[in-house]
Amino acid sequence: MSEQLSGNGTAGSGTAAEQRHVVVVGAGMAGVQTAVALRERGFAGAVTLIGAEPHQPYDRPPLSKAVLLGKAEGSAFDIDFEALGVTLQLGREVTGVRPADHELDTATGPVPYDVLVVATGAEPTRLPGTDGVPGVHLLRTLDDAERLRPVLAEQHDVVVVGAGWIGAEFATAARDAGCRVTVVEAAERPLAGALPAAVAAPMAAWYADAGAALRTHARVAHVEPGAVVLDDGTRLPAGAVVVGIGARPATAWLADSGIALGEHREIVADEGLRTSAPDVYAVGDCSSFPSRRYGRRLMVHHWDNALQGPRTVAAGIVGETPAVYDPVPYFWSEQFGRFVQYAGHHEAADTTVWRGDPAGAAWSVCWLRDGALVAVLAVGKPRDLAQGRKLIEAGTALDAELLADPARPLKSAAR
Ligand SMILES: Cc1cc2nc3c(=O)[nH]c(=O)nc-3n(C[C@H](O)[C@H](O)[C@H](O)COP(=O)(O)OP(=O)(O)OC[C@H]3O[C@@H](n4cnc5c(N)ncnc54)[C@H](O)[C@@H]3O)c2cc1C
Repeated sequence: MSEQLSGNGTAGSGTAAEQRHVVVVGAGMAGVQTAVALRERGFAGAVTLIGAEPHQPYDRPPLSKAVLLGKAEGSAFDIDFEALGVTLQLGREVTGVRPADHELDTATGPVPYDVLVVATGAEPTRLPGTDGVPGVHLLRTLDDAERLRPVLAEQHDVVVVGAGWIGAEFATAARDAGCRVTVVEAAERPLAGALPAAVAAPMAAWYADAGAALRTHARVAHVEPGAVVLDDGTRLPAGAVVVGIGARPATAWLADSGIALGEHREIVADEGLRTSAPDVYAVGDCSSFPSRRYGRRLMVHHWDNALQGPRTVAAGIVGETPAVYDPVPYFWSEQFGRFVQYAGHHEAADTTVWRGDPAGAAWSVCWLRDGALVAVLAVGKPRDLAQGRKLIEAGTALDAELLADPARPLKSAAR
């Protein structure tokens, strides 16, 4: 494979650059894709992928779907690391980095690098006061999903804290498994941090349709074995509690490194995904980047970002120019029998155009800025999403009146 790859004439092959040792920290989607993208671009130097988890690198989205329900055993990436010439070091946590020395620290000794790629992802926010309380779960890792499987199988009363993406997907799986489910949300609607009120409001009905109780404006006072107590005194029986209240970049280990972190503790990368330290890149959930397209810095905690970003990192490492990361962000969610997709990025000031009735099974929402499409949310409308994504990429101006007609293909609104 490396012969074939090194023969493709990309920058980096046949130069001193290929003697460099690239070390990738974090063996999730972004780390794995960085290793793959380096080889695809003909990088012939050593590549080491270090991951804290003991498992073969795996994909996370199935953890709240097929893996949770036992419909899939696992979600390991189908990649032959040996054939790719990538050295895997699993079950090894990196505890620090000294950029001036080009060295990482671990419990079993230092690891030198020529180029470092940080892809340590994010870690779920814990519910204060619940550490060590039996029956309280997070859902981020394969181990978490495996701990939750028997909870579903035993059909416990489940309380989900947080009506975000993970909360909705877990509630869906728990209902499918026949559990009684109550979702507790502090805000007045689901997905309050992600979508505007008018768009998220119809989604509240999905919980009831699926037989899950959604309690908004509800704050957890404390959790005790077997129950969640709300601050209005309500006691919710809970054989298990699943906390889905967000995730933060896993960057605590960089605290003394001098590498610049942002307000969310994320690594502040430039448009080539380089960090403030020389020869150090950051990609995936752990970092943010300046979006030329949207004129602001974005921190994206979705799968597609962990797929696309590594291509820019690899291009930068092998010296391809320009290696600029400026994606149209994309994600999907499968909840309550619906396929929800979103592409782009919108702000409150953008014009909202509805396509179809949100009480129905399939509808979408578009956001226009200066007449051009900047974002689309599609529920059961993959064609709208696919067409919208291309129009966003191209910056095409749309006719808002034509766009509002769901009977017409979205792309036919192009001016
Ligand atoms: C349950 C679940 C369902 C999801 N579903 C969807 C979905 O449907 N659609 C969608 O778009 N996105 C979804 N996502 C989000 C998507 O999976 C993430 O955006 C993606 O996994 C990010 O990849 P990453 O490689 O940046 O980070 P991660 O996947 O978090 O990988 C980072 C890895 O780095 C390791 N690590 C951390 N610190 C260290 C250290 N100091 N030393 C060594 N290793 C370290 C971690 O153990 C981890 O394995 C889901 C996420 C979860 C948790």
